Amino acid sequence: MSNKSVYVFGPSRTDGAADMKNTLGGKGANLAEMCRLGISVPPGLTISAEVCTVYTEQGADAVRKLIEAEVLAGVAFIEKEMGKKFGNAADPLLVSVRSGSRASMPGMMDTILNLGLNEEAVKGLAAKSGNERFAWDSYRRFIQMYGDVVMGLKPVSKEDHDPFEEIIDEIKEKKGVELDTQLGVDDLKHMVAEFKALIAKRLDREFPSDPWEQLWGAIMAVFESWNNDRAKLYRKMNDIPDSWGTAVNVQSMVFGNLGDKSGTGVAFTRDAAVGEDIFNGEFLVNAQGEDVVAGIRTPQQITLEGSRRWAQLAQVSEDDRRTKYPSMEELMPEIYQQLLKTETALENHYKDMQDIEFTIQEGKLWMLQTRSAKRTGAAMVRVAMEMLEQGMIDEKTAVLRVSPDRLNELLHPVFDRAAIKSARSIANGLPASPGASTGQIVFFADEAEQWVQNGLDVILVRQETSPEDLRGMAAAKGILTARGGMTSHAAVVARGMGKCCVSGAGAIRVDPRARTMTIDGKVYKEGDWISLDGSTGLVYEGKIPTKDADLSGDFGKLMDIAERYKKLAVRANADTPEDARVARNFGAVGIGLCRTEHMFFEGDRIKAVREMILARDEEGRRRALAKLLPMQRSDFEGIFTAMDGLPVTIRLLDPPLHEFLPHDDVNQREMAIEMGLTYEGIKHRVNDLHEANPMMGHRGCRLGITYPEITEMQARAIFEAALNVKAQGITPKVEIMIPLVGTVREFNSQAKVIRDTAEAVFAERGSTVEFMVGTMIETPRGALVADSIGKQAEFFSFGTNDLTQMTLGFSRDDVGKFLPHYLKAGMYEQDPFQSIDQKGVGQLVKMGVNKGRSVRPAIKLGVCGEHGGDPASVEFFHRAGLDYVSCSPFRVPIARLAAAQAAITNAK
Ligand code: ADP
Ligand code: MG
Ligand code: MG
Repeated sequence: MSNKSVYVFGPSRTDGAADMKNTLGGKGANLAEMCRLGISVPPGLTISAEVCTVYTEQGADAVRKLIEAEVLAGVAFIEKEMGKKFGNAADPLLVSVRSGSRASMPGMMDTILNLGLNEEAVKGLAAKSGNERFAWDSYRRFIQMYGDVVMGLKPVSKEDHDPFEEIIDEIKEKKGVELDTQLGVDDLKHMVAEFKALIAKRLDREFPSDPWEQLWGAIMAVFESWNNDRAKLYRKMNDIPDSWGTAVNVQSMVFGNLGDKSGTGVAFTRDAAVGEDIFNGEFLVNAQGEDVVAGIRTPQQITLEGSRRWAQLAQVSEDDRRTKYPSMEELMPEIYQQLLKTETALENHYKDMQDIEFTIQEGKLWMLQTRSAKRTGAAMVRVAMEMLEQGMIDEKTAVLRVSPDRLNELLHPVFDRAAIKSARSIANGLPASPGASTGQIVFFADEAEQWVQNGLDVILVRQETSPEDLRGMAAAKGILTARGGMTSHAAVVARGMGKCCVSGAGAIRVDPRARTMTIDGKVYKEGDWISLDGSTGLVYEGKIPTKDADLSGDFGKLMDIAERYKKLAVRANADTPEDARVARNFGAVGIGLCRTEHMFFEGDRIKAVREMILARDEEGRRRALAKLLPMQRSDFEGIFTAMDGLPVTIRLLDPPLHEFLPHDDVNQREMAIEMGLTYEGIKHRVNDLHEANPMMGHRGCRLGITYPEITEMQARAIFEAALNVKAQGITPKVEIMIPLVGTVREFNSQAKVIRDTAEAVFAERGSTVEFMVGTMIETPRGALVADSIGKQAEFFSFGTNDLTQMTLGFSRDDVGKFLPHYLKAGMYEQDPFQSIDQKGVGQLVKMGVNKGRSVRPAIKLGVCGEHGGDPASVEFFHRAGLDYVSCSPFRVPIARLAAAQAAITNAK
């Protein structure tokens, strides 16, 4: 720890700078930087964040001992700069006390303004300013803020109102006025007395009148707030270490509540919603602090252009706008020009879009904060690309400016911005899969399909979904379920399809028989219009127009640049020609995982699949497989055609067979009738197939080893499809992948079936295609003996879902019971199924990479599985030296950008 704990800033001396965020926090560092740039900032001091750790470990007395002398010297500095004395009743120096950590953090202590006032000083302030109303308004604000944030006077319960606001409301009511600006001096004096009485009564303590006691109380309250529950939770959610601590800023007050030539506001150097390069913001005349964001009065726009746009949206006439809500540009043209100059200077200096806070005191502009502005995904992209074009930043910086995950917001349809403002939300559920959708309610999957065939837009509403609903889900614009979480069937499938989904909307009662859903007593019938926002989980009544994602423009440019920097190729996990086309559109350069089993559920196929499973011998199985062959073949033709010229990795059948059989009585009986078998027979067979732990049971290559005819049929379907499309001038690039291999013998046995089948098909057709046979590395043993397998396999694809499951011994189907608790307790830092466990599972991946390359230097190495679309995991895979990652189609752009960022940051 350095010896220095207090850093001052002001026109004559500034100790800190922008690059000292670790010590001074974001706010303190940027206040110092603005002083260095010659921008007018009220002078102040910053207590280093390191002191926060002293507070946490040793308490308030230790802090006071450590920093008292420095704080006294710092306050003396402010006094000199301002020509006023702290604690002097005749002409008091007042200060604000503001928290500020390295990362901007809601949940920290609220700012305290006007600190230093008491019964004497308020009179001095009134006399000195010649404005008694202002003095008492400042005093009542101070007591209110200090009483709340330092002394802890909160509403009694969460249903209660803020007790201070209640007093204000009573006084306003008695006076018959609407706004606090309409209250007079006597009202404010009365308010001060009431506030103090309330504090004395509720807390059994007098409000402190000694300015120094006030100051130390506020400083310690800031440190204390670092460890409140809200702040801790926020840190956990955002990976902010507890050890960072918060800094404390003590800053001389400037007053926006000194009358009509004063005011306060916030502004953005560009538009934070869409990224347009237009200065914008709001301000209030004769106001202080957070009045602008508090929404008590309607704030006015800063620019004339912004004011006009606002009036149009708010349906305010031009006359009303000009007289009641004029812009700062019209009202205070000189200040406006200064503000414009300052915001331009700040953006040019920081080379990023800024979010600024300012106050005007009797015609003089003071800056109180600047920081890089939070923005939507769309704004991230546009601002980065425009700053690149404007020559403010270079390509690498532009690529690094966009959080890959936020691209999600750009890839899906969105609601019309004006229309959504007047929409009525009727329920909310989980934001299961992003995007906006609008359509007519349908309660059955097959009917959804029919309606869509008839040219209608539908929302499929279900209690919950199952694999049988797939086609209806694919046809619908959006999916709404009453039950199920973020990993429910509906949620997972919808995300895979890139389809908007709201799941687990508990307030909805679905009655499929009556074809109605009921929310809060209101009944919605089949055919009624609703709209879903899968990014917020909100359900709206009626039809709200949506707009398709625009993949050209700035987004396209960003992707082109990313493409030039990244080393990892990005493929997609896609099982249908439609998914393949979407993926290609998003820039996928191949399919890394085509799961054949998904094809088995469609339409009549499930019957043939069930016949195959129920067959008593090889002959019966071959008969059923012969029915499946043409269906699989045509699927592959579709996918090869969609991916013309790009590699397609097809995985042989993987899941345990019982997944294809019905488990409940009703469906088993139905199936018995359909197949001309007895219900008992089916029940018996289902029981036969039951496994205690199916994830580690009869699945993967184990199926093909016990029933080689399945592998043979699949291989035949693949090769015949490849030859068929080749005859039409399409270039199929075939990669066949054997799942769940743990020993080279398993691999060899399946590879032989595949290669023999290829030879047979090629001989029959008198034509050939090139192909590769490779394996998934997804059992720990597979990784451990990857050198032995690599001698035979032409490629590896790391199946990180199973590899995680088996390495950690966490059954994916059961983690819901303990993982949330585990994460909360810090047993793992992140959900290992979402972001790869680099220290554990990641080591197996690295080992597999090294062993594979040691025996076959040109071996192709990829990753399929959810991790392929997670930016942190992509960065790890880049470092591990893989050739490609594969992820669901809608995550392809995210993975591409993450891969470019990995290449840029690791080259630095
Ligand atoms: P937050 O981090 O919540 O934005 P701040 O510390 O920035 O909190 O304070 C909120 C607002 O309080 C500022 O935007 C400003 O309007 C007002 N404020 C803070 N310090 C001062 C000051 N020294 N003089 C005048 N107003 C101030
Ligand atoms: Mg602020
Ligand atoms: Mg697997």
